[in-house]
Amino acid sequence: MPLLAAAHGLARRAGAWLGALPSTCAVCHAWPARVLCDACVARFAQPVPRCRSCALRVPAGVARCGECLRHPLPLDLCLAACDYDWPWTDCIGRFKFEGQAGWAAPLALLMHSMPWAEQALEGADRVLPMPLHARRLRERGFNQSLELARRLAPDRVDARLLLRLRDTPAQSGLNRAQRLRNLRGAFAVDPLRAAEVRGARLLLVDDVMTTGASLSSAAQALRDAGAARVSALVLARTA
Ligand SMILES: [Zn+2]
Ligand SMILES: [Zn+2]
Repeated sequence: MPLLAAAHGLARRAGAWLGALPSTCAVCHAWPARVLCDACVARFAQPVPRCRSCALRVPAGVARCGECLRHPLPLDLCLAACDYDWPWTDCIGRFKFEGQAGWAAPLALLMHSMPWAEQALEGADRVLPMPLHARRLRERGFNQSLELARRLAPDRVDARLLLRLRDTPAQSGLNRAQRLRNLRGAFAVDPLRAAEVRGARLLLVDDVMTTGASLSSAAQALRDAGAARVSALVLARTA
């Protein structure tokens, strides 16, 4: 049994290596290329006007979407690198559900290259990955948001300040208000570290943003603890 487990571990590590050292672009299969070739990034991750509060696409010249004007999210700024659409759904799926860790670096680079990301990272005292509930973490083996955050801000990433207290039932099919109700009390600041949040400028990192209910609930917990500023950097935003 230990032999089998060792072989399994080795195969998994080899898989991670293969994921980290691709020879063709995963999207267009151009060869030789990095995991994402420049042409595909330029074609599928073109910066577009987005709502400043929830990163939803908006017409040029519009700062906030209608939903955020009526029910503002507790985020000072929210940036998304791309839409949660092909080919990013495939790439994120491989990263998140197939555990291909080699995707963390190219996807973090995609986030880092979007307009204003550099400023948002530089302006943050701490960069907080969205925490996974312990059960979810055991199932998946890693927190995809932490892997991204580690590459975005290795010197300021902090995965222990914000806690996930409750797992939540599947959120699909619910609107923003219902999701927010579902998530009440799902996040909290580590009570032993509350003083570090007071007056701090914090940046949340997440892989996929759907309605923004999770980010919003996390941001509210940080605000309630006295954070001066809470923004979010996400990889992909659903339309
Ligand atoms: Zn390509
Ligand atoms: Zn909005």
